[in-house]
Amino acid sequence: MSEKLAKRRFGPLNAEVVTVGQGTWEIEASDRREAIKALQKGIALGMTHIDTAEMYGAGRSEEIVAEAIAGKRDEIFLVSKVLPSNASRKGTVAACEKSLKRLKTDRLDCYLLHWRGQYKLSDTIEAFEELKLAGKILSWGVSNFDEEDLDEALAIAGEGKIACNQVLYHLKERAIEHAVIPWCEKHSVAVVGYSPFGSRGGFPSASSAAGKVLQKIADEHSATPYQIALAFLTRHESTFTIPKAANPKHAADNAVGGHLKLTDEDLQRIDGAFPLGRRPSSLPMI
Ligand code: NAP
Repeated sequence: MSEKLAKRRFGPLNAEVVTVGQGTWEIEASDRREAIKALQKGIALGMTHIDTAEMYGAGRSEEIVAEAIAGKRDEIFLVSKVLPSNASRKGTVAACEKSLKRLKTDRLDCYLLHWRGQYKLSDTIEAFEELKLAGKILSWGVSNFDEEDLDEALAIAGEGKIACNQVLYHLKERAIEHAVIPWCEKHSVAVVGYSPFGSRGGFPSASSAAGKVLQKIADEHSATPYQIALAFLTRHESTFTIPKAANPKHAADNAVGGHLKLTDEDLQRIDGAFPLGRRPSSLPMI
């Protein structure tokens, strides 16, 4: 099963990463054992890209991830994030060390600035480079960065340094297709879409016209609308997605979305049902 999951190069890295991974925001709010089972089920099915953050449950999500990946660290592409309020030159290094401790590991595969805050971007990037030199992170990236922020990061760091930009991307919120995806593809930066199901309760209703289109395509593939959404969101050469599932059945379903192939006609029907819309004045984020 795991070999069937689609993988692609993660931005400038030599690593091949599964396109459908696992998010962990608010996973600590669910039954702990079920949440760990869900993550482990996902890993067993090949969803080895795991996203967490120091912010999630004030570190409790990272502790749950540590338990779920125990004994399997080398199989995992592990990502965490520094809060903007900690992202000073020294604070970034200290925050990373705390995350490593909670995650019970000696390194992160990628470390992200969660969103832009009060500290100079150059300070955060210097700290990322220091962490890289020390082997505590293997790469770094950003999150919730629009085109102008990406230009600024690129001007500071140079080409080939920004591994990814993690941004909001689901069927009803496709704003990143205007400028962020083209920018990232031009500069070999991976695009990791978050909240692929519109987060809590945001998935298209089955009774809506667009929801019915999705259901029809799902029926034609013997799949679920959620799986179709994951396949649609990972159709670009640069895109990854990180659905969160605290329920093991959801995790198993999501893995199927990682190897579903949609036809050009399917893509056109989804595009028509969930139109791109105009470019908003600022990048939407949760
Ligand atoms: P999401 O993945 O869009 O949706 C999660 C919800 O969908 C949960 O209620 C989950 O239920 C349900 N679900 C999962 N798989 C399902 C399936 N196959 N069928 C039906 N329902 C399913 O929400 P998200 O947590 O907002 O986004 C995903 C991840 O992106 C986060 O966990 C986090 O890692 C990341 N994120 C990053 C940022 C950022 O600023 N960088 C912001 C938001 C999120 P159960 O939990 O009960 O299984």
